[in-house]
Amino acid sequence: MPKIQRLTPRLANQIAAGEVVERPASVVKELLENSIDAGADRIDIEIEGGGIRLIRIRDNGSGIAQDDLALSLERHATSKISALEDLEAVCSLGFRGEALASISSVSRLMLTSRQEGQSSGWKVFAQGRDMEVLSAPAPHPVGTTVEVRDLFFNTPARRKFVRTEKTEFSHLQEVVKRIALAHYGITIHLSHNQRTVHQLRPATTAAEMEHRIAQLTHPELMDNAVVVQHEVADLKLWGWVGLPCFSRSQADLQYFYVNSRVVKDRLVGHAIRQAYRDVLYHGRHPAFVLYLELDPSQVDVNVHPTKHEIRFREGRHVHNFLYSTLHRALAEIRPDDEIALAVRAAETQVVEQSGPVAAQQQSPSVQASMTMYPASVPHEMRADNRGTAAQLSPAWPQQSPSPLSAVAMASPSSPSLSNSVHDGPVAMAGADAAQHDIPPLGFAIAQLKGIYILAENAHGLVLVDMHAAHERVVYERMRADWYAGGITAQPLLVPESVAVSQHSAEMVDQCQPDIEKAGFVLQRMGPETVVIRQIPALLRGRCGADLVRGFLDDLCRYGSSDRVKRHMNEILSSMACHGAVRANRQLTVVEMNSLLRDMEITERSGQCNHGRPTWTQLSIKELDALFLRGR
Ligand code: ADP
Ligand code: MG
Repeated sequence: MPKIQRLTPRLANQIAAGEVVERPASVVKELLENSIDAGADRIDIEIEGGGIRLIRIRDNGSGIAQDDLALSLERHATSKISALEDLEAVCSLGFRGEALASISSVSRLMLTSRQEGQSSGWKVFAQGRDMEVLSAPAPHPVGTTVEVRDLFFNTPARRKFVRTEKTEFSHLQEVVKRIALAHYGITIHLSHNQRTVHQLRPATTAAEMEHRIAQLTHPELMDNAVVVQHEVADLKLWGWVGLPCFSRSQADLQYFYVNSRVVKDRLVGHAIRQAYRDVLYHGRHPAFVLYLELDPSQVDVNVHPTKHEIRFREGRHVHNFLYSTLHRALAEIRPDDEIALAVRAAETQVVEQSGPVAAQQQSPSVQASMTMYPASVPHEMRADNRGTAAQLSPAWPQQSPSPLSAVAMASPSSPSLSNSVHDGPVAMAGADAAQHDIPPLGFAIAQLKGIYILAENAHGLVLVDMHAAHERVVYERMRADWYAGGITAQPLLVPESVAVSQHSAEMVDQCQPDIEKAGFVLQRMGPETVVIRQIPALLRGRCGADLVRGFLDDLCRYGSSDRVKRHMNEILSSMACHGAVRANRQLTVVEMNSLLRDMEITERSGQCNHGRPTWTQLSIKELDALFLRGR
């Protein structure tokens, strides 16, 4: 009696199903992918009992020829590839030829289909240990319907892992959402227990796509996202990235597609996290809907049966492309972009609350600003602005009298300032005609509790956390200087001697080049004494001893010069934090305006170096709503 036996076809299929069919949601994924591969532009999904009782998916795709029907239910039978070369550049979502076979081995599956030119449709199902396929004519329009009943009825072990109807349906709904966001052209209808859950119309314009995203993800995501679109020779990335201020406590608004395939990829995740690292508060997760397109031969999709994982042939190249594209896009978000989005969000909210009358009153300037996307602004322009401004306002804020009035006036981003002095609300009053001259963050009105700057701009009130904002401005400038060769130092009038730890004092001997490049001139005077001769010009007026102690501590922490270089961003960030204006310092209006102008031209100025927001907008509409005005 031989010990080795050949498995029956049904058992072999059930084993394969173990990998592919985890729960009702996996069935829906496979069937939807088949419909998409068949070129359908309309798909109806009917679910009952969380997908355990019934999954019925009907499409208007190409259908299956009568002769092929029996094969479609067989394992290792596919119309999508026929040779190894095809496998190396798969263009369809499916290719393994095992989904229908697996599903029909663990449920009661009935497939009905009709191709163009056939007089009637045919239905097929498999039965018995040998999965013998039976067929019969059945009326059906061109396209295919797959009906899956009683999932796992014959595999009790799997059934045990099935959760409640509600949980299973929410998994299933997530699958539908993810697929719907990669196939905007397809009309999709989803119902559960005879109730419509999603009714998605095809989306072709950007506005329609944004509508679909808002419908399926988070109603406010599109009000807090900017468009990204970038292409190099062999790679293209497009989509929407959430503003850092719209971060989430969970990674629940992250949609990433490679050639329209939903993927969860470590390399992609890492590149995106890195790009957001500088602007996201610790432990928060960004929101995004992104599409990567590349030659199919550059991705290996045959890594995992469910094809959620993929492998890039040029992983490092893809990583660099994703990181640099997103990093740039986030750096380019400027106050005007954020204001446009914030105002747009506030307007829609107010409109929703107060009905169509308010909608008609929407000001044309607001409507115009809706179409503004930071990603479309060429960044050479921004880089220019930035350089000039950095030279113009070397140090903010200064104890008065300050040279900054001249600086603010001459800033290239605010030409209106060159001929008149707009210092506050008086200058703003009745300035309707000159609305377009008002810079994005407006003009300072007052300082609150020594912490916040209040300013008036075209849309209403702007509130700025002055320490957070100044910290980012100083940091970005120091970083630019560091990478451009070194931070400018400024001699102290009187050299200052400070006591430091012995380890710190040794750093002064060991890391001279890095110390000088960071804008310090330090000299070791004894085992535990250092003399400060120069400090970064950007930080002048700060306590030199504190700055130097903090800086040397950081050098000690990173030890070797190599590691110091790698961690320079962290070191500069902590210098900026120490160097930024502290709370309770009274600022003059000129100083406040100068900070606002600096923020407008600084990369990532919407967040401080720890990812906290630096400012916010309260539009007149929102203020009116607070006081029930115009109701
Ligand atoms: P795969 O998708 O990997 O080829 P499946 O088991 O999912 O394997 O499907 C087997 C075959 O059945 C497909 O290759 C395709 O030719 C056909 N098929 C399945 N579903 C559909 C559909 N909705 N419309 C048209 N053809 C279909
Ligand atoms: Mg398939």
